[in-house]
Amino acid sequence: MAPLSGALRLLYEGKSKRIYAAGPGEALMVFKDEVTAFNGRYRDEAPGKGAYSAALTSRMFELLESYGIKTHYICYAGGNAVKIRLADVIPLEVIVRNYVYGSMKKRLPLLKEMDKLEPPVVELHYKDDRLGDPLLHPRDPVAAGILAEDELNAIEDLALRVNNALSSFWRDRGLTLVDFKIEVARDNSGFMVVDEITGDTMRLIDPEGRHYDKEVYRRTRSTELLLQSYVRLLEAAGNPSRRC
Ligand code: 5GP
Repeated sequence: MAPLSGALRLLYEGKSKRIYAAGPGEALMVFKDEVTAFNGRYRDEAPGKGAYSAALTSRMFELLESYGIKTHYICYAGGNAVKIRLADVIPLEVIVRNYVYGSMKKRLPLLKEMDKLEPPVVELHYKDDRLGDPLLHPRDPVAAGILAEDELNAIEDLALRVNNALSSFWRDRGLTLVDFKIEVARDNSGFMVVDEITGDTMRLIDPEGRHYDKEVYRRTRSTELLLQSYVRLLEAAGNPSRRC
């Protein structure tokens, strides 16, 4: 794809990507080469990360669609860009946990790291960096008018279907899906999965407990080791097939 010119209108800029308008109802999601952790306290350039993330997220959305799960993905635009449908994003982070890790271990010392969670735990967090994306009481989104009563079950059901698809995909490639985060939007026929699914949003470990996700950077602050892991993830996943 040709480099993006200044002519494209920037709609949104986040920590890891920019969204540009690209025709009626469509947009380009352009991944940055930057890696951040601990709410921006660690920040480094990781050349190539944007392209690995765009290709892996495209592959992951193609996987979800093969399971009949709706997403905002249209096609992989090459390099660090993905074409998406614009959608009405719900300000929640939906986390699914198959094993105890990260913030769950911190808040519940009764549990040990990597204890298996059966059934998996689905958490809803309010998406707000300034507040540190706080974990919500299950009724909070209804009380706040973010979700309708009947949408609570629907969102959990969607998260578990995504978990089944991703867990079995990575299991076939020798990796365990510890946990992941998705974001969700509405259209007139229900929910769809939006945002990204990459090594920044999933924890994936091999049988020796080695990470292939952003935990590598959180622990070592090495962009080189992080990029090696992301190359391995993309090699294992394979390239996306729907190009534009
Ligand atoms: P934890 O709550 O244990 O820190 O994270 C659980 C899972 O959700 C991990 O796979 C983590 O990468 C993902 N996750 C949680 N919050 C965020 C976030 O704000 N941004 C991103 N990219 N991933 C998140």
